[in-house]
Amino acid sequence: MARIGFIGLGNMGGPMAVNLVKAGHTVAGFDVTPDAVTRFSGAGGATAKSAAEAAANVDVIVTMLPAGAHVRDIYLGDKGLIAQAKPGTLLIDSSTIDVDSARAVASAAQAKGLLMVDAPVSGGVGGAQGGTLTFMVGGSDEAFAKAKPFLEQMGKTIVHAGGPGNGQAAKICNNMILGISMIGVSEAFVLGEKLGLDPQKLFDISSKSSGQCWSMTSYCPVPGPVPTSPANRDYAPGFTAAMMLKDLRLAQDAAKTAGAHTPLGADAAKIYAAYAESGEAGRDFSGIIRYLRER
Ligand code: NAD
Repeated sequence: MARIGFIGLGNMGGPMAVNLVKAGHTVAGFDVTPDAVTRFSGAGGATAKSAAEAAANVDVIVTMLPAGAHVRDIYLGDKGLIAQAKPGTLLIDSSTIDVDSARAVASAAQAKGLLMVDAPVSGGVGGAQGGTLTFMVGGSDEAFAKAKPFLEQMGKTIVHAGGPGNGQAAKICNNMILGISMIGVSEAFVLGEKLGLDPQKLFDISSKSSGQCWSMTSYCPVPGPVPTSPANRDYAPGFTAAMMLKDLRLAQDAAKTAGAHTPLGADAAKIYAAYAESGEAGRDFSGIIRYLRER
């Protein structure tokens, strides 16, 4: 069993860290929000007073933080975890962040001789609690092999997407598909309603036709056809519009840097920005259908 330092015990990190405790590891958790630390300790975790304390004398450091700036702050610089970590410590960052930050941190880790992976996740809070997350992993073969057993204790599907930063690349490409497809499915339901088509009939047809996709069959934005979808609970999240907007903006930033033409991704970011600004940032992203219907 390993000694693990876990930094960022929020909606996702909290239950992920608990799953590592359940797997038998000694996990020291830290979060700047005291409530998150208290929750973790109530679930059997050890607590630390700072990120440095959580990361001292451990075999593995896992971070689950809001954005690239937090990840750079924690890992880089004279007082950062990379400078402080003992030789042989494995670094796993599961936050969803920009590809450039992921690669900058990975290259600092490499310069210090530490193995690191970027391992963002898909599957939401339910997946974090149930240990069924999908991990998209960027890093060397050696780093991936060392990280995989730990990721398997927090997730079900673990895919090595390539070198450093490629986990983040996969995550934003996937979520760009999701943002665009959720708008597409929602527009079709709104048009169908205005043409007098019963939403259940459209579902019965499209879920078995060429319009079929995850946004239709697993996360349907109208209540009824998929009982587990947030549409059935007034669009309580789930995955918030703010999170979707964050990922679509990361995709647009990456597209600009890489010179990729992504006009639908750009439109999706604009539409989600307007939806979030309409007071619905904390609502599930599939609630975009209400925003479209009201226009
Ligand atoms: P969250 O805001 O609930 O948790 C982030 C935690 O990090 C907070 O508890 C915050 O206090 C803590 N934190 C911030 N700065 C810190 C620091 N310097 N030191 C220690 N702790 C610090 O967010 P979340 O929903 O857990 O998401 C975490 C990451 O996972 C994000 O990058 C998000 O995009 C990604 N993600 C979230 C979901 C989801 O459904 N919530 C799904 C996939 C990926």
